[in-house]
Amino acid sequence: MVMKFEEFDISSNLKKAVKEMGFEAPSPIQEKVIPEILQKHDLIGQAQTGTGKTAAFGIPIINDVNSKQKHIQALILTPTRELAIQVAGEVQKLSKFTKAQTLPVYGGQSIGHQIKTLKRGVQIVVGTPGRVLDHVNRGTIKLDQINTLVLDEADEMLDMGFIDDIEKILRNANTERQTLLFSATMPPAIRKLSNKYMTTPSHVTIDKGEVAAPSIEQVYYKVLDKNKLDSLTRIIDSETLDLGIIFCRTKKGVAELTESLQARGYMADGLHGDLTQSQRDVVMKKFRKATIEFLVATDVAARGIDVQNVTHVINYDIPQDPESYVHRIGRTGRAGREGIAITLVTPREMKHLRSIEREIKNPIPARGIPSIEEVVE
Ligand code: ADP
Ligand code: MG
Repeated sequence: MVMKFEEFDISSNLKKAVKEMGFEAPSPIQEKVIPEILQKHDLIGQAQTGTGKTAAFGIPIINDVNSKQKHIQALILTPTRELAIQVAGEVQKLSKFTKAQTLPVYGGQSIGHQIKTLKRGVQIVVGTPGRVLDHVNRGTIKLDQINTLVLDEADEMLDMGFIDDIEKILRNANTERQTLLFSATMPPAIRKLSNKYMTTPSHVTIDKGEVAAPSIEQVYYKVLDKNKLDSLTRIIDSETLDLGIIFCRTKKGVAELTESLQARGYMADGLHGDLTQSQRDVVMKKFRKATIEFLVATDVAARGIDVQNVTHVINYDIPQDPESYVHRIGRTGRAGREGIAITLVTPREMKHLRSIEREIKNPIPARGIPSIEEVVE
C-alpha cells in the first residue's frame, strides 16, 4: 500500500507545505504513525535514522496547534543543540503556511533572548532537556497546558545522562498530555521510562527492509595504526565524494585529524564538545553550504545531524558499540539517497568489527586500500 499525504486527515496548509518540501509520499514510519498520533494515542516509534521521524510527529503536532492561543502546546525534547535547531527548522518549514510559532531552546545560547521570544507567544518548543528544565524552573516555560510531549532520539538522551532532567520535565507536564517516544534502539531503560510515564502506548517498529534509507553501502579497510592518516587520504582521494563526515573517538582525535587534513589541503573542519555554540554553528553552516567537504566529529557532536548530500561516513576510529555504528552510518543515505559507510580497522580491532557485524546481523565486506596509481588516475 502506497499512501499519499492527501489521504491524511490534516489541514490543507500542511499538505501544501509538505508538497513544497518535495515530499512525494509519506515514508513507512510516517504512514504508520501519523494516523495514530492524530488519534491522540501515546506511541513508541522505533526506527533507524533517516526514516523521516521528525515529520512523523511534526505533522500531527502542527495540525492540532491552535495558533490563536499563545501558550505552549507541544514540547519536543532532543539530545543535542544541533538536533534541536534541526528539528525546529523542519517544524518551521512544515508550518510555513500556518501561524504556529516554533522556538528551539538550548544551552550555550542567551537565556534572556529565549525568554523574550517565549513571552511573545510560542506554541511549539524544541529543546535539550537541561535548558528546558532551566526554563521550567524559572517559570518561563509552562507545561501545564501542553497537548503533546515528544522524546526524540530517546536512547541518545539517556546515553547522554539526561534521565533525571527528563523525568523532572515529564512530572511537570500536563498529565492529560499525549506522550510520543522515538528511538532507534529500545534498551531496558527506555522501556522503564515508557512504563512509568506513558499510557498504553502503541508500538510502531519499522524493520530494516522498510527503512526509507536502505541504500547505505558498508565496507571496511584493514589499516595499520601508523598508516592510518595515509590510508584515509588515499581512500577519500579515490572516492567520488560530495560531503563526508569523519568520526574520531575523542575530542583530541578530532582536533588532530582536522589539523592534519587541513595541512594536506583538504577542506575540513572539526566539531566537538569543546567548541562554543557559535563556533559549532559556523562549522555546521559551512558544512551545509559545502564550503567545507569534511566534517570531523565525535559521536556526541554528530548525533542526529541531518545534512543532505552526505555521501560518505568514515569511521576513522571504529565505533565503540553497534548502536554507535548504526547512528554514525545513518548520517548518510538520508531519505533514500545513496551513501557509503567506510570503517578503518586496525588488526587489533578485527574482533571488535566482528562483534559489530554480529549485532547488526550484517556482514561488512572488506576492501583493499587503493594504490597510488588508482588514486592518481
Ligand atoms: P530521522 O529523524 O528519522 O532520522 P528525519 O526526520 O531527520 O529522519 O528525516 C530525514 C530526511 O528526510 C530529512 O531531510 C527530511 O526532510 C526528509 N524527509 C522526511 N520525510 C520525507 C518524505 N516523506 N519524503 C522525502 N523526504 C522526507
Ligand atoms: Mg530524528
